[in-house]
Amino acid sequence: GTASTDPGGLVVATHGRHVMVEDDAGHRLICHPRGKKSEAVVGDRVRWQHTLEGGDEGVITSVDERRNLLWRQDEWRSKSFAANLDQLLMWIAVEPVFSEMQLTRALIAARSADIPVTVVLNKIDLPGADTARARLAPYRAMGYDVVELSLKSEEDAARAQVMPLLQGKATLVLGPSGAGKSTLINTLLPEARAQVGEISQALNSGRHTTTSSLWYWLDGAPGDAERSAIIDSPGFQEFGLHHIAATELTRWMPDLGAHVANCRFHNCTHRQEPGCAVRAAVERGEVSPIRLSLYTDLFDELSQPRW
Ligand code: GDP
Ligand code: ZN
Repeated sequence: GTASTDPGGLVVATHGRHVMVEDDAGHRLICHPRGKKSEAVVGDRVRWQHTLEGGDEGVITSVDERRNLLWRQDEWRSKSFAANLDQLLMWIAVEPVFSEMQLTRALIAARSADIPVTVVLNKIDLPGADTARARLAPYRAMGYDVVELSLKSEEDAARAQVMPLLQGKATLVLGPSGAGKSTLINTLLPEARAQVGEISQALNSGRHTTTSSLWYWLDGAPGDAERSAIIDSPGFQEFGLHHIAATELTRWMPDLGAHVANCRFHNCTHRQEPGCAVRAAVERGEVSPIRLSLYTDLFDELSQPRW
């Protein structure tokens, strides 16, 4: 059939080649892609057809053009996992101590996909709060919004800080395990656990392996124009950056990028070259040495030959 006349829908979960599509009336059905070109991720708008007349299984006939797409590192390869996001909420905590490499990868991935980021530092009730705050100072200086809260000791205040950020947007919430992400989703959406159970059962006939991402509506009803949604990626470990060239990295690291125009060589990699303005800025204390070392590690990773 001609895809353009097929009904539209939103991908709300995926598991392997099983894709849960929500039609525009809010009804959900399990679909399979028709071919490589109709492989979809959570957040995709798709066209679909029923496999059987009156059945609740379908086939995805096409994927609408994406506003943006994010990639995760999945064992040996990068895999796309979410599309059409309005923003990324990077959910980290005072404890477990957050990894600046993970944070930096997230910020690079989002910036290169043109997705705004807010960093949320949870558990500021814990003694390491000042240290965590100090580690985030360079990111604030780069212009990232950093929100500090404590979901446990100041739950109402924390909700009041987070809710307005989510209003009317599709927000991907990502962070290392233990940072309080489930606590957040449970406070925002008490029935979330039940929804997860239903979706993974439908997609996976009851086996409890993690689905790659899940879309939750926080408010509104099918057909409403302005709805808030959270996208959760339970098994998420880290962003895949292999679609980014090593030589382009500083474009997505604004603190380093601010100096590259002053390097002696236009193709300076900011490691050994004489007259490097980025390293000079580090020596003057204008750029964090940690950020330079993150850059160096990422440059090496992205310069590896791959197949
Ligand atoms: P997830 O792995 O990111 O989903 O983390 P959880 O939501 O399971 O939270 C991990 C632990 O951190 C739980 O024991 C929570 O009770 C605790 N936790 C969550 N928020 C806070 C907070 O603001 N302060 C403190 N001290 N503990 C918190
Ligand atoms: Zn340089």
